[in-house]
Amino acid sequence: MKIYLLDNVLKKISSVLNISNEKGNLMIMEYIKRNVFSGNLSIKDIDTTVHLNGWVHKVRDLGGLCFIDLRDYTGIVQVVLNPENFNHLSEIKTESCLSITGKVIKRHEDNINNKIPTGEIEVIATDYKIISTSKPLPFQISDEDEMKKVNEELRFKYRYLDLRRPSVYSIIALRSAVLKKFRNFFDSKGFLEIETPIITKSTPEGARDYLIPYRINPGYFYALPQSPQQYKQLLMVGGVERYYQIAKCFRDESQRSDRQPEFTQLDVEMSFVDQEEVLNTAEEMSITVINEIIDEFKLPKNPIKPFKRISYHDAISKYGSDKPDLRFDLELFDITPHVKNSNFGVFKNCIENGGIVKGIRFPNGAKYSKKEILQIESFCKEFGAKGLAWIASGPEDAEFAYTSPSGLKLRSPIIKFFKEEELELIIQESSLEKNDLLCFIADNQSTVHHVLGRLRNYIGEHAKLINERDLAFCWVLDFPLVEWNEDEQRWDSSHHPFTMPHESDLQYIDTDPSKIRGQCYDIVCNGFEWASGSIRIHDPKIQQKIFHLLGISEEIQNERFRHLIEAFEYGAPPHGGFAPGIDRLLMLLTGGNNIKEVIPFPKIAGGQDPLMNAPSLIDASQWAEIGLKKI
Ligand code: ASP
Repeated sequence: MKIYLLDNVLKKISSVLNISNEKGNLMIMEYIKRNVFSGNLSIKDIDTTVHLNGWVHKVRDLGGLCFIDLRDYTGIVQVVLNPENFNHLSEIKTESCLSITGKVIKRHEDNINNKIPTGEIEVIATDYKIISTSKPLPFQISDEDEMKKVNEELRFKYRYLDLRRPSVYSIIALRSAVLKKFRNFFDSKGFLEIETPIITKSTPEGARDYLIPYRINPGYFYALPQSPQQYKQLLMVGGVERYYQIAKCFRDESQRSDRQPEFTQLDVEMSFVDQEEVLNTAEEMSITVINEIIDEFKLPKNPIKPFKRISYHDAISKYGSDKPDLRFDLELFDITPHVKNSNFGVFKNCIENGGIVKGIRFPNGAKYSKKEILQIESFCKEFGAKGLAWIASGPEDAEFAYTSPSGLKLRSPIIKFFKEEELELIIQESSLEKNDLLCFIADNQSTVHHVLGRLRNYIGEHAKLINERDLAFCWVLDFPLVEWNEDEQRWDSSHHPFTMPHESDLQYIDTDPSKIRGQCYDIVCNGFEWASGSIRIHDPKIQQKIFHLLGISEEIQNERFRHLIEAFEYGAPPHGGFAPGIDRLLMLLTGGNNIKEVIPFPKIAGGQDPLMNAPSLIDASQWAEIGLKKI
């Protein structure tokens, strides 16, 4: 996927800039301060004398004249220096800081550059000063194509140079604008922005904690918060009622392209609300903020619409995922009842052993050869499938094994195992059309859904069912409260342990906890989980019961959560909230698929910061200070 060059972000930001330094005062460092920004110059400035400050984006020596593309954070303008007027032009190096004084002129018709907003004019320099020079660069930042080839670690090691690229700067500027919009939304609704502690106690969200040794009492540790979850609930007990925060969260978990060990959430909590009110607030916030951003910055995205609502159960059964990509409609279909008595042993045996057979239609997939279908099968095997069965209704010149009464011609190695009625039911259930390929997986429920969910995304991409301009938001509701952890032989929370169960399901707590639905919800967009939230438990007895279900002993409850249980004993209001990911939103808005690109100083593989070179070793005295021994 390609990240958009967000020219409109730069345009919008530079349009609000004003400079009072009309005359270009001489400064202590002996350079003349600018009286205009490079990117703001246009035809209307012709014949004026301007003072510019910025970086040398490019320098070229052409036909006896020296051309400099001078860049500041609003854009680029071409400056022309005549060597007859200046002696040491060769000292001007790329990415050095310059101060330029010159006159704006209209470019000759043949030299107009439509690629940059200032392309109709240029500045003829009458004076210049090198404010500070740059040594040779680790990469050529003015060449976007070259930059695509630069290794990520090197680019982030020199992130301060990378940030100078207008394409990168525009993303960071967009990030700032998005944060402001969220603040405006919540301020207008009477929410307080409150900072909660970073050095604190573990707050579980299902990941490993980052720990900080406590110097004063060796052996004790702080933990960095996985989210401000407990503090925001304590704020509700504290009568705050409406809280938000642009919060840093820290989770020591395996790295993926859409995850960072340190990330930013917009954290929200409200008192005396039920699930419907929280959903409405979150949806109004999303639609207002995102549509304003798309509109103001002219992002290549379609405005977002009210969110579809899907239960967790339906999401899994229709799309094979609790993070369905709804930019396309394709749904899984179930042929279990139609093939349970067929002669195809693979399907029949699987069903007899409690499994299911489901499939998905690959629009226009019949064009694939057997070899290409084997590649699709390998893809499915990566996600746990034992094999892939298929039926194709094309292409035209294939050898067909069956023609349906409605005229559909089918080819497949498995057709011979089915009776005509069975094939007709499969055709109906799958809505098969000419040129489609049907893909079937037979296995236990969870493997079938997992594999077909992945295959659905694969088909979405390969059958070109996705409009890149769409942001398809939906609610996924009614998650199970707990999930069975086979390795540890215990129940884990599917969100976090503070989620309120549906009261009518509490009856299953001792008999079948898998049946308890949580009052929790996710916002999913284009196949990513964007936000999650819940109504919280505010009754200490229910909270203790849930801790108990999760195998958290009374001793550990006291040690880790006594403060919360105790707070609930002082008149806790019913409350709930949610937390969308800021980084993920920026990723969706900019059309990228790598979260690092939207973070000013991201971590690379292994959670390392290549710029600061962190984590780093500590010296002997620091080991002693924190009372730890090196092993
Ligand atoms: N604390 C939750 C999370 O980080 C969000 C919430 O429930 O508000 O996912």
